[in-house]
Amino acid sequence: MDENKLVSDFNTEIDMAFRTAWQSDRGGDDQWNVFMNTYGVTPLLQSDKDMLFNSEMKIARGAFPIELRRVCEKIVEKYRANVSASPKLSAALSSFDMDAKVKEYYQKIKPFAGLGDIFKNASTGTQKYSSGLQTEKQITIRCKNCGAPRLEEMQYDSCLFCGSKLFETA
Ligand SMILES: [Zn+2]
Repeated sequence: MDENKLVSDFNTEIDMAFRTAWQSDRGGDDQWNVFMNTYGVTPLLQSDKDMLFNSEMKIARGAFPIELRRVCEKIVEKYRANVSASPKLSAALSSFDMDAKVKEYYQKIKPFAGLGDIFKNASTGTQKYSSGLQTEKQITIRCKNCGAPRLEEMQYDSCLFCGSKLFETA
């Protein structure tokens, strides 16, 4: 089998997942669910989606990053079956940076922060700061990849928003 074709097939499939997630309605839609299903990935529970919608990780469009990650993991898994026959594919898979890919996706779906928003935030800054103090204690751990807060009461071993396993104490 042509090694270069394997590598380009892999990249094409990842790009397709990326694009399909991006084209989805905010928080996922039927088309995205069907796409995920072809990889055997189930959507987030509605209760988890609601929690994310109410979190500080705002999205303007597209499926949630963690769902894209789950699809990409399946794609990597699928191509891994061919690595013994292809050093090039093996190299492509080991250099594939899942956290970076998911973060790149998040950059594309988060709301655009224009100048108007900056000025708006400046005027409400004091109020924000004082209300922030009350919640500060609960939010001590953040995802290293996307910055999502991990609440103590959430018993997840990976970030609910982007799926990264990297956390740091802020
Ligand atoms: Zn994260």
